[in-house]
Order: sequence, then C-alpha cells, then structure tokens
Amino acid sequence: MNINTTVLGYPRIGPRRELKQAVERYWAGDLDASALADVAQTLRRETWNDLAGRGLDVLPGNTFSYYDQMLDHIQLFDAVPGRYRSLGLTDLDMYFAMARGRDEVAPLELTKWFDTNYHYLVPELDESTVFRLAGDKPLAELAEASALDVNTRPVLIGPLTFLLLSKPSAEAGASFQPLDLLDQLVEVYAELLAHLADAGAEWVQLDEPAYVADRSQAELDALSSVYRRLSALPNRPKLLVAGYFGDLGPALPLLAATDVDGIAVDLVAAPSVQLTGLPGLASKQLVAGVVDGRNIWRADLGAILTTCATLLGACAELTISTSCSLLHVPYDVEVEAGLDRDVRKRLSFARQKVDEVVLLGRALRDDSGVLVDLASGTAVPGIGESWRRPTDPSRNAAIRARVEGLMPADRQRAPYDERAIAQQEALALPSLATTTIGSFPQTSDVRRARADLRAGRIDQAAYDALMRAEIERVIRLQESIGLDVLVHGEPERNDMVQYFAERLDGFATTDLGWVQSYGTRCVRPPILFGDVSRPEPMTVTWATYAASLTDRPVKGMLTGPVTILAWSFVRDDQPLGDTADQVALALRDEIADLVEAGIAVVQVDEPALRELLPLREAERKAYLDWSVASFRLATGGAPARVQIHTHLCYSEFGAVIAGIDGLDADVTTIEAARSRMEVLADLAAIGFRRGVGPGVYDIHSPRVPSVEELAGLLGDALGSVPADRLWVNPDCGLKTRGYAEAEPALRNLVAAARLARLVHPS
Ligand code: GLN
Ligand code: ZN
Repeated sequence: MNINTTVLGYPRIGPRRELKQAVERYWAGDLDASALADVAQTLRRETWNDLAGRGLDVLPGNTFSYYDQMLDHIQLFDAVPGRYRSLGLTDLDMYFAMARGRDEVAPLELTKWFDTNYHYLVPELDESTVFRLAGDKPLAELAEASALDVNTRPVLIGPLTFLLLSKPSAEAGASFQPLDLLDQLVEVYAELLAHLADAGAEWVQLDEPAYVADRSQAELDALSSVYRRLSALPNRPKLLVAGYFGDLGPALPLLAATDVDGIAVDLVAAPSVQLTGLPGLASKQLVAGVVDGRNIWRADLGAILTTCATLLGACAELTISTSCSLLHVPYDVEVEAGLDRDVRKRLSFARQKVDEVVLLGRALRDDSGVLVDLASGTAVPGIGESWRRPTDPSRNAAIRARVEGLMPADRQRAPYDERAIAQQEALALPSLATTTIGSFPQTSDVRRARADLRAGRIDQAAYDALMRAEIERVIRLQESIGLDVLVHGEPERNDMVQYFAERLDGFATTDLGWVQSYGTRCVRPPILFGDVSRPEPMTVTWATYAASLTDRPVKGMLTGPVTILAWSFVRDDQPLGDTADQVALALRDEIADLVEAGIAVVQVDEPALRELLPLREAERKAYLDWSVASFRLATGGAPARVQIHTHLCYSEFGAVIAGIDGLDADVTTIEAARSRMEVLADLAAIGFRRGVGPGVYDIHSPRVPSVEELAGLLGDALGSVPADRLWVNPDCGLKTRGYAEAEPALRNLVAAARLARLVHPS
C-alpha cells in the first residue's frame, strides 16, 4: 500500500514572530502594504522549504493568514458586513478593520476556536448576505508554492463549519439561521474547487471540526448532502474532509458513505474510534492523525506504529499525519537553550512533529519493524514502553503520596451558613459590599520596571521597591474611592498563569515558544512537565505588604488549578484530574500561608473553567467532577471565617452552572454587565444561595458608566439576590484599562452601591 505523510496545518506567525512584528508595523504606518506582503511571502516560502526539506510528502497550503483563517474566508466569500464596506478602504485595510474595528466601527466578535486557546473572528450573516468568490488567496498560494516546485494541498474551512461558527447579524430576522445560506455557499465552494482543479491542485482539505461536537439530525443530514453534492462535481480536486479535536461520531459513517476521496480523523483525541470495517472507508484515503498536533510531548512512536499497522486494513491508502493543525504549538524546541536537557528531550514542537510524522511514514514503508533514525543510525525513542517516565526528572514521591492520601473531607469546608456567620463577624462588611476583581491598570511605569529587571538594568531590590510603591498607591486610591474589600492590584504579575508557573516546581517556561492566540497576539504557555510542588510562598509578601497599609480587608489573589492547566501545555501521562490536584495542593498551601499571615479574604480565579468544557455533552460531567474537585481541594483547607471568592470571566453559564455551584465559593464574581444581569435569574433557578457579584461595570469598554446606570443594574440584580449576598464589582480585572476611565468608573460604582443600600436597606 502507498503510504504518505502530511500535517493538517502549520504555524504562520514566524519562528521569531516575524509576522506579528510586520503586521504591527503596518498598522503603525512604518511598513507599507507591499513590504508587508514581502514578509508574508518569505515566511510562506521558508515554511514550505522547511517542510519539504524534512521529507514531508504533501504540504498543507493556504495555511498562511495575516490575522485569522475565518476572517480570510469571510473576505474570500465576500461576507463582509456593510459597516466595513462603507469605510472606503483597500481590501487589506478592510480586512484589518473587521479584525480590530476602525474609527467608530466595531470589530467582529472574537471567540474561542473549539476547545483551544486560539480565537477566530465570527462571521455576521443575515438574509441579505450574498456569497460570491471575491478573492483568490487559496489559488494565489497554490501558484506561489507550485512556482517553488512544492506540491500543496490547499486547506479550506468546510462550508458547514463556516456556517455553524457564524452568527446572525444585528439586522437578521428572528428566525434566521446561518445554515439557511448553505445552498448558496456550497455553490461558491463548487466554483472555488473548479478553479483549484484547473490550477493543478490534486487534493483540497475541507476542515469540518464542527462535527466533533454534538450536532442535530438536520445538521448531520446537511453534512451528508453537501459532501454528496461536492463529490459529484465534474471538475474538482480530490476532497479530504478533516474532523479534528475529537470524535466525529455519527458524522464519520455519513462521510464515509459519500464519494469524498479521503477523511482525516483525530486519533489522539479519539483513540478508540472504530475504523476497521467502516463501509466506504475501504475505498478511501485515511489520514490518520496519530501525532498530537496540540500538545508538545514527543510521540510514542512505537505505540503509534502498532496503531498504524491495524489501520492498513481499514482503507485504500494511509497517510500519517498530525491530529490537527500545528497552529497550536510553537515552532521549534531546538532553539530553547534555556530548557533543562531532561525536559527538552521529551518535547516536540511543530518542526519535531513533522520529523516524527516523516519517520513514522518511513518505518511503515520500510516495514523493517525496527524504527531507526536513518540519518544518525540511532534507535528512536518511542520504541518499547516507559519511553518517557524513567527520564522524568521531577517525579516527586512526597507529592504523589499526598495526592494518594486525600480524603473527601479535604474538599469539604464547613457548611455555608456557618461560614457566612463567621465571616460576617470577622469582616463586618455592609450589604452590597464593593470590591474589584484584582488587577489595577498596568501603567507604563510598571511594565518598564519588569522589562528593566529582565534586562538587568535594575536589581531585584529596586524592582521590589517599585512594586511596593505601586501597591501603596493602589491601596490609597481604593481607600479614597471607598471600596470595602481591597486588592493589591497585581502589578508584579506578567500573566496570571505564567506568574505561578515560574514559582512552582514541575513547570518550565520557554524563550521563544510563542503560539498565536488571536491576530498578532501570541502567548508562551508554560510547560507542566512533572509533579507540581511549591518550593516557597508565591504571593504572601505582596498580599501582607498591601494589608499592612490599611485597616480594610485585602483579598489575596490566586489563579485556580483549572485555569493554570488550561493555559499551559500539560503532561498527558496521567489523568488531568490528578495533575489538577497537584496544582491544587500547592494553592492550598499558599492559602494556608496567606491565612497564617492574617489575610481574611482569598480569591481563586477560574476564568478558564468553561474553556476546557468538553465539546460533547456526554463527557462534560466527568470534566466538571474533576475540575470542581480540584478547586475544592485548593480552597478546602480555609477556615470558616476566611472568605473564599472566585471569579469567572463569562456570562453564558449554561452548561457549567451546576459546576459553579459545586465550587462552593463564598462569593462568585461573574461577567454580567453586557447581558443585563440575566445570569442571576439562572443562578436563582438552581437555588444558588451564596454571595454573588454580577459585574456591573463592563471593563472591556473605555466608557465610564454613570451612577444612575449602575444603580439601575443593581436594582435589577436585587430582584433575584438579597442585598446581604449581592456584591458590587466590575466584571473583570482592570489591567487593560487606564486610570483615566477606571477611577471615575469605580467612584460611580461605590456611589451606586451607597444609593442602592439606601433604597434597599438589609
Ligand atoms: N484577578 C485577575 C485580574 O484581575 C483576573 C483576570 C481574569 O479574570 N482573566 O486581572
Ligand atoms: Zn475576568
């Protein structure tokens, strides 16, 4: 059998974030459009040359993007909302206007790409949308690659996933659904496929990850009929339909029954999907996603070879691939000189994953049974079992024993009623108590101090003195505003996860391990590689310093275990729940130290609780069980008199509402300003009876809300929550705001709380 190798997609920001820099210079007017295009073309060429040079048989094409692949398709299909068209811009500037807004025109909504940390721009569609082929990006990139003698398989988002990720525009009629436009859109795909065939594309990849989530029967039928229609086209390339991030479930046999030429399945997220004997697959190409495209561990090549051997009988042709696009991992582990050697040799970034795929293809073709790196003649790690564990430099017997010995009581605080009384005695807070979510505006002085410390221009003592001065300023400001529960403002935190990763054993951080989060924004997720423990307190000095400056309570501020996992690359050799418990124990010890130092209120942020929620309903309960349990382990040691807050960054509670109740926090602050407190009714409906702070001030906007507006929102909230359990706060941290807006907004917030207390005495 013919065996090929490929990957489903590749990073595009550049190994040194060249694209980010070029795009931002273009925005700033320092680079013109043609110079920007040159940077982009160079990056594409280097990527293709690199992948081809590594021996990959078929390269994905059209994986480049100036900002986002959904946005590319919006422009390609001419689905640009009218408000951008009337700006009179070039295509490139209109593209960036949709991404970032322009003058008074708001950008498209940005939202998470399935359960990853990538964010895409949401198409806005309505009855007036007329799709047409308005660009040639996939064709131009195909031609560009061909000119370099590189054979690419253009990647497109499939028509169903495109529509299922879209939303009705503000002008859409009440009954409009994006899927209403399917027939129209499929005609445009047909036209594009014909052009690609004429231009010499042998294959085209159509990504349909929307089908690894639960889909209605109508949506499944639509998948079936669209791919019957497209595969019946007289003039088309071979079609590869890719479903990744999970199990295609009922969509898989439907696709296999059509005449598409290949199907890509994610065998990392769904290792036990049944492929052998699947009707229709036997005559198709199977693209087996066996190398994890979104985590950074070396593949267990021996185990994968065994899997692949069983797949040979399931299909007509086998292609070895990554499970999804490599967009979600950094470029190259080889450049990470600062990483511990024992850790580094267990890692595989995009380049190394390509090597793994190539090596697997070679081993299967040679059928020698022995996997030897032909270039160096050495056996490749991954043969046999225990290929990773014995080299684990951080296996920590003490922490493992501690996790083993955990009892249900460790996750159970005193009953809420008892806690509420003890806390009221300790804190004596008014009803409608006011507070903030933690961070205060990160001024340029604060950022400069951090850069100066990194560059060695100032020493640790000088840095600490600057942070103390900032904390003092923030405390004085909060006192003058009249807030009830104060925060230290988080000036010392570069990032709410990285700060903790840098202070915990079992985590590594990279120098150049950038991953695109959205547009030009990139993050360097920490790597959780081993057993986690806390060598020393992480936040106590700052919290106690802040508390020493004031008579009012100061909240200690921690990031919760689920969020720390969600925003890191996490070991995959044990259940996530076990890893979360190790992180939780470190946080539990931190809380004990904070309490010991006299801190009476501690907030444990879990903004990512909803992000990790499995795409399929059937897996959600198990997820909520371990995630909630880890939060409870982190907070479960706090005495009754200590008030535990949590903060969640979203208002669509839906699927996680029971989980939020399960966290058992004394106070939960949530995003609600934009949904006008609707979430409170949902909470009331499930009998939620602890403290709740629906954010009344939308910190995502520079607008300063008036006292009347804030008081109005509080009035609404008081309809579902009694005054002694209602908290008054912004809906997220203030770090991205300036003082010019934040200070007056907080003053109005305190004034509104005072007003509401008069109207609704408790
Ligand atoms: N305490 C954090 C802050 O205020 C919470 C951030 C978040 O919710 N993402 O910045
Ligand atoms: Zn938030």
